[in-house]
Amino acid sequence: MATTDRYPRQAATLALAHALSAAERGLAVIPLSRTKLPALRSPHRDASAPAGPAGPPCHGECGRFGHGVYDASTDPARIRELFSAAPWATGYGIACGLPPHHLIGVDLDTKSDTDSGAALRALALRHRFTIPPTIIVLTPSGGRHLWLTGPPEVVVPNSAGRLAPGIDIRGAGGYLVGPGSRTAHGAYATAPGTAHLTPAPCPRSLLRLLLPRPRAPRPGGA
Ligand SMILES: [Zn+2]
Repeated sequence: MATTDRYPRQAATLALAHALSAAERGLAVIPLSRTKLPALRSPHRDASAPAGPAGPPCHGECGRFGHGVYDASTDPARIRELFSAAPWATGYGIACGLPPHHLIGVDLDTKSDTDSGAALRALALRHRFTIPPTIIVLTPSGGRHLWLTGPPEVVVPNSAGRLAPGIDIRGAGGYLVGPGSRTAHGAYATAPGTAHLTPAPCPRSLLRLLLPRPRAPRPGGA
């Protein structure tokens, strides 16, 4: 065994172990690289010819890996295949919006000058909701991810800073970096006392804020 491979391989093994454990809880996962991006590149990246009519984007119908969050699975055999195709993976992403949990990630960042925690508390006061006890993941940069669940019939879109400055929402088609992942900036870990919790249902009035506003009806109907 080449000793130069030791650390990356160890990181990949750990990432796989964490990913399998998340999958056991019903969370669909994909391998992530150190940059938090899907570890497997698209098999269609060279096929983006500008000429000709563009067909519908492939979400994995071709049978190959490399479709980002569409590769996500809870099947241990498939997860092992994904990780062996990406031995450079150091983390894993958890797909949001999928059954059974229909996960919604509330991403409170610390990058800007704004206090995203205070912004969420202000929203909670104004719209009369409380964040229930739920899984919280601490990010290497000091941010927090609150894990909530949505009703199956609702599609929560991704958004960045729409709810309030510093608050991003991970919904359908998005993913959360799973606890135990390592990136170039450090490790993601569950906040003390929250690892054993199940993701709590998103409060109704918060859910309403996350959904696109219905379009105003045009004058004259239709
Ligand atoms: Zn494809």
